[in-house]
Amino acid sequence: MADCIFCSIASGEVNAKVVYDDADVVAFLDRNPVAPTHVIIVPRRHIDRLGAAGEADAELLGKLQLAAGKIAKILKVENAFRLVTNNGKGAGQSVDHLHYHLLAGRKLLWPPG
Ligand code: 5GP
Ligand code: ZN
Repeated sequence: MADCIFCSIASGEVNAKVVYDDADVVAFLDRNPVAPTHVIIVPRRHIDRLGAAGEADAELLGKLQLAAGKIAKILKVENAFRLVTNNGKGAGQSVDHLHYHLLAGRKLLWPPG
């Protein structure tokens, strides 16, 4: 999608520190990390947010979660990590391309702020 920063990163047009990629998913270090490990995991296909996903995206959503598990292993944080998505501005979404934050490397409080 035009003017989407995560589409541009997924296509390689904009640089990011990619830690994992496959045919459907790209993951890169957040430019403004809030934990020692802070990875953004996106589908290559543009979807605005989780709530905008439909039945046709079911397999892709599964692949995103499986990728998160693989990335946690690659980064050696598989025993303690958090996977979160902010859906909508009120929940803190600032980039309108579905993404999961993989957070690890510090004590993660519950409930989150
Ligand atoms: P949101 O607030 O939408 O849940 O999360 C967006 C995240 O993407 C933020 O944590 C922000 O730091 C990160 N981000 C936004 N633009 C870029 C970028 O161009 N490069 C990288 N590496 N991270 C970005
Ligand atoms: Zn996009």
